[in-house]
Amino acid sequence: MRPLVATIDLAAIVHNYRLAKRCAPGRQAFAVVKANAYGHGVREVVSALHDEADGFAVASLEEAAEVRAMHGEARILLLEGCFAAAELPMAAHLGLDLVIQGAEQAEALLAAELPRALNVWLKLDSGMHRLGLSADEVRRQFPCLRAAAQVAELNLMSHFACADERGHSLTEVQLESFLDLLDLDFDQRSLANSAALLMIPAAHMDWLRPGIMLYGASPFADLSAAELGLRPAMSLSGELIAVREVAPGESVGYGASWVAERPSRIGTVSCGYADGYPRHAPNGTPVLVAGQRAALAGRVSMDMLTVDLSDLPETAVGDAVELWGANLPVDEVARAAGTIGYELLTKVTARVPRRYLSG
Ligand SMILES: *Cc1c(COP(=O)(O)O)cnc(C)c1O
Repeated sequence: MRPLVATIDLAAIVHNYRLAKRCAPGRQAFAVVKANAYGHGVREVVSALHDEADGFAVASLEEAAEVRAMHGEARILLLEGCFAAAELPMAAHLGLDLVIQGAEQAEALLAAELPRALNVWLKLDSGMHRLGLSADEVRRQFPCLRAAAQVAELNLMSHFACADERGHSLTEVQLESFLDLLDLDFDQRSLANSAALLMIPAAHMDWLRPGIMLYGASPFADLSAAELGLRPAMSLSGELIAVREVAPGESVGYGASWVAERPSRIGTVSCGYADGYPRHAPNGTPVLVAGQRAALAGRVSMDMLTVDLSDLPETAVGDAVELWGANLPVDEVARAAGTIGYELLTKVTARVPRRYLSG
């Protein structure tokens, strides 16, 4: 078997969910499991949190159906609502908590004949300008939805654009805009993603929506997951499959973009961009070889990447390599590659076997 595996520590995810709840005592939390639980495997994550989570949040009806099959009772929040009116009967059948993020969705719901009423989350566009109704539209929709037979709970939600940048002025504007609507008699309110959950108690409301923190990565550029008390859930591990000496002036890899400046030792690792490792990761991106730091050297190829082992003369073929995980934070690799942990975790491809630890 090819030596590359994503080991998922389900106990870490439970630990991180509990930490989220401890940050906001008395509040409930939707564990955000969209995008295959940020690449960790939605079935395994939902079963690990089965008796723990107050609810789950997903991005599509397909994802919701997968969670419902694992969990008969949990509240499941459909974060973008239904993409077409034809999805509404299925949303009702699955008993989802439905986001209404635009006037078209509100009209479709009010025109639908549904087998049962749904909990509705009216989404306010508080300043991100991606989804949601304006404050005026929320006020206009409120009485119609309140009176509608299709609606059980009528709830308010919104989403922050910059909660990951501490002290960003837009966050204050968004919070104010949300609070301004609370004279309306909503049943439940939800505003906080991981960043707001960790840093902005005034945004906690009734329901939290932690995503990235559950997987042990930090939403902040300037605060590590370890500093936040989070435990990394995924370790992406490969092996050294070849080692060679390269003379000064010789190049390594496609495009001959890395050239040895000294007599060098180059290791080849069983992980490439077809596994989800970012092709644009530059020379110098950290890689852990036999527990020691080495630097990416040369372009990442489809199935392999190469590292400079010149300062690690004792390393050899067969040594374990951690691309990120328990000993090398995914956020650090992401920063080196000019992206965020979210992207690296969600992009680990299906060909990488997941191995689960339940702790
Ligand atoms: C994905 C998502 C979240 C979770 O965000 P994190 O930054 O991963 O905690 C919360 N709310 C909405 C609306 C989302 O789309």
